[in-house]
Amino acid sequence: MEIKLAKTAGFCMGVRRAVDIVLEIAQHEHSRRIYTYGPLIHNPQTIELLKSRGIIPVGSVDEITDRENAVLVIRAHGIAPAERKKIKESGIRIIDATCPKVGYVQAIIKKHTALNYTVVIVGDKEHPEVDGLLGYTGGRGITIGTPEDVYKMPPLIKVCVVAQTTQDSDNYKNIVDKIKELYPQAIIFSTICSSTEQRQAEVIAMAREMDALFVVGGKNSANSRRLTALAQKQQTPTFHIETATEIGNINIDPYDRIGVSAGASTPNWIIDRVMDRIAEGQNRKLKKVGSFLNLWILAIKTDIYSAVGAGCLCLACMVLQNIPVSISSITIASFFTYAMHVLNRLISRKPPVGFIGSFREETYLQHGKLYLYSAIACVAVALILAFSNGVIPFMFLFVISLAGIFYNLKILPGGWRFQSLKDLPGSKNIFMAVAWGTVTAILPALNNNYNLHAALIMAFVFTFGVVFIRSAMSDILEIQSDKLIGRETIPVLFGKEPTITLLKIISLILLALLIISNPAGWTSSLSFFLITCILYIWICFQLCDRKSGFSGAVLEGLLETSYIIAGLSVLVWFFLR
Ligand code: SF4
Repeated sequence: MEIKLAKTAGFCMGVRRAVDIVLEIAQHEHSRRIYTYGPLIHNPQTIELLKSRGIIPVGSVDEITDRENAVLVIRAHGIAPAERKKIKESGIRIIDATCPKVGYVQAIIKKHTALNYTVVIVGDKEHPEVDGLLGYTGGRGITIGTPEDVYKMPPLIKVCVVAQTTQDSDNYKNIVDKIKELYPQAIIFSTICSSTEQRQAEVIAMAREMDALFVVGGKNSANSRRLTALAQKQQTPTFHIETATEIGNINIDPYDRIGVSAGASTPNWIIDRVMDRIAEGQNRKLKKVGSFLNLWILAIKTDIYSAVGAGCLCLACMVLQNIPVSISSITIASFFTYAMHVLNRLISRKPPVGFIGSFREETYLQHGKLYLYSAIACVAVALILAFSNGVIPFMFLFVISLAGIFYNLKILPGGWRFQSLKDLPGSKNIFMAVAWGTVTAILPALNNNYNLHAALIMAFVFTFGVVFIRSAMSDILEIQSDKLIGRETIPVLFGKEPTITLLKIISLILLALLIISNPAGWTSSLSFFLITCILYIWICFQLCDRKSGFSGAVLEGLLETSYIIAGLSVLVWFFLR
């Protein structure tokens, strides 16, 4: 059984750049309405998300009434100079997100048109990029799509040939060969974008290697359709799907090796959901091992795995502090964590954004009430247990439970940039790490009439660090959807690479503290065993990347396993001491 995700699947540079430009404007421009000249990308789900953030696609400037307070973004495909002039004259502020590679083709056409060449564009006649390119030909451009079209061209003296950036390389080569036969003096430019070429080459290689292939992308996306056609040419069963729900209508049982690729406009979260759905189907075929894997994924999706992880960290913190292991404290940590995760997910759910992009979406949508009741029951049990341990632990838990619930609630009225605590940039990672540190390290210590002590600080810092790293790593994987829905996580604020550097520094600080805390007399010798958590986190730094080919749920599970390793370290420590 194998599921392979194409390295080139998902947004290309030009699309990512255009989306980033629009989102950057949406974040800082509150006084103007934002429009895009045509749908920003060929993906209906992303367009819906953008609309929910007030970014509206228009087909012409005439659709914009309040022009003085409008910003119009030119998408990656670019537009014709005449259209640009019309927009400028209308008084609307333009932001140009034309892909630089498309801009390069426009420049070639402009230059050769000025030199009296007839420009032949090899591309799809109705495609907006081709429309834009044609606008640079001074009315003398010709668009062709097949080698046969070459014979329909009139006699020409000066011929310049370019390709739409997402053309099929083989088709372009065949057309160019024919043009060279009929117009030997023609100047040929290789303008197919390298990212398109790599994507196509990978799809062909995958189709030859795998039993079946899924191409994920909008049905209106020309490059997704082209990828599908290329894979089908290799005689491999190929399915062009827009979302994971379509897999329900396809029998994937006969295929053991399945490849997944995606068009240049397909966001990561849609690819993730497809990977999850295929993995579930494949796991079922593995009988016992598969059932175990599906159970593990179910535990991750339902937040039970997080709850078990919190229990493991609580156990480690108690042993680290040399205080008696308390089942009550472990239960409080697990139940509180489960309840807060679930309640926050339910509160932050708002259509159409909700859990879009999250592998948890389906289960939360199907069993919303069950989640709600179980979360309320868990927080109640945690509070009762804390009360049985004393008034101070109860008050502590009560306050952080309230803070956890208020985290997502709007406190300030509309119009304010930060209406709730969750709107504070980077707050999620910090609040989550503090809450986990409190229930796993401070509460068990309070149950034992503990004072502020080096061991308590060390236990808190350990949980805080591990949870912060896990949550920020998870946010790195979600950076694309977080940007789209306007969630300002640490990776969104600082970027992927600086965030990884920050997390590596934190992990090194934790490593140093774990090494010195026992010799310094602060903690038990468990600190040495907990170094395995840090080593595991370093493996995650390498493994937990979109290009690893794991689905979103598996990546999340791998990250959360760092908590389980803390619990396993305690077991090993018990046996070896
Ligand atoms: S496919 Fe290439 S040329 Fe087209 S938008 Fe993407 S990066 Fe730019």
